[in-house]
Amino acid sequence: MVGGLRGFTGAALPPLARVRHMAGAPDSTPPSISVTEHRQRILDSITQLPARLVPLADALGHTLSVDVHAGVDVPGFDNSAMDGYALRQSDAATASETSPVTLRVVGDLPAGSALNPRLKPGTAVRIMTGAPVPDDADCIVPVEQTDAGLNSVRIHHAPALAAHIRRTGTDIRRDELVLPAGRALGARELAAAAATGIAELPVHPAPRVGVLSTGDELKQPHEPLNRGQIYDSNSVLLAALVAEAGGVPVQLGSVPDDNEQLHDFFARNAGRVDAFVTSGGVSVGAFDVVKAVLAPLGVWFGPVRMQPGKPQGYGQWNHGTPIFALPGNPVSVFVSFEAFVRPALLTMQGQSDVLRPRIRAVATEDWRSPAGRAQYIPVVMDTAAGTTRVRPASGGGSGSYLVASLAAANALAMIPEDVTEVRAGDIVEVERLSGGPEGATLGEL
Ligand code: AMP
Ligand code: MG
Repeated sequence: MVGGLRGFTGAALPPLARVRHMAGAPDSTPPSISVTEHRQRILDSITQLPARLVPLADALGHTLSVDVHAGVDVPGFDNSAMDGYALRQSDAATASETSPVTLRVVGDLPAGSALNPRLKPGTAVRIMTGAPVPDDADCIVPVEQTDAGLNSVRIHHAPALAAHIRRTGTDIRRDELVLPAGRALGARELAAAAATGIAELPVHPAPRVGVLSTGDELKQPHEPLNRGQIYDSNSVLLAALVAEAGGVPVQLGSVPDDNEQLHDFFARNAGRVDAFVTSGGVSVGAFDVVKAVLAPLGVWFGPVRMQPGKPQGYGQWNHGTPIFALPGNPVSVFVSFEAFVRPALLTMQGQSDVLRPRIRAVATEDWRSPAGRAQYIPVVMDTAAGTTRVRPASGGGSGSYLVASLAAANALAMIPEDVTEVRAGDIVEVERLSGGPEGATLGEL
């Protein structure tokens, strides 16, 4: 190992990749702000979208704004867990295969029945799963332990007291917490709400996010390309990432590198969206239009100590709508979205856990990482013999233009600022991404 373990700031799981050789000064113009600082500044300025009450059917994917308590006991009444017979346990206490007990059947209780038949000693009622247990019964004998008789029933197994009775409130009691504020509502959460008699839930709405590409060189995938032109992949990338983060993407197309057109674009759309995400035009090039238009209006632009994704912009249009001005290279767009935009969109939706959980993995290849910048590198993760392993999805290159390699990735590795080289066998920190190749053995994780 060359150098020491440096630059770990409060990480719960210190990555063990090593500083191998700091090659002189980190950068000719040292970036001024870390990923964590930039993200915190963004999150400090983001407010939750005001909650509204929606029917359960419309709440899927939204985030709950308040704690929700059960409106009723679940189960609401003692009920049978089996199809069988409800009876007094003492009436069948001696039953066995060789010496069955016979009881008279005095009624039928299907699920939904409101009846509460009296049971004299020596009698039973036929009862179905979910039907209320008569007050006089203290156990259920499953039909499989009887001759299934209709007028009288032969029981060949002695029941235990309270056998197969689902007691009132054993799932949840009235007024107990069912779902906490900040919970993203999926199928299981909605079912729990419905079961406790809740028909509507207050949720934060999905943020509407205007997605815009900038650049004279951009064409849409159905158009022919001339020399110097490329397909606009960032629009579709960002729209899909917004949707995956629970937002509603508003695809606003692309604008050429023209200050006036870009200014018009923001002015026209500011009232329609809760946030803007743009790509391109934020660097130090001659035609960096996003920066040219927004910097004079107070939007912050500057370098962030990360790779890729160094040039970033963030601020508000007219002190209102947040604008995430991301760089243009597709991998930069992706990692910038993961690091900054996704946590912000989750915050708008009222979620508190806005960062993906990190796990540790063993690098199986060597790769380099720039000094003085946190590297965010798309990786392929799999598990072999109980070990979680990663390798760069781009086959070693970390170029921010390697858009096709994104499709090969299923995780993002974060290499700390001071680490300059990762070697096979080093431990690195990784976030699992949604989607991507499963890796035959990922189930072992
Ligand atoms: P820029 O920051 O505008 O100089 O863009 C940096 C690089 O990203 C250039 O190679 C651009 O052509 C490329 N780029 C910008 N926008 C897009 C886009 N929407 N889709 C794909 N590549 C893009
Ligand atoms: Mg550009």
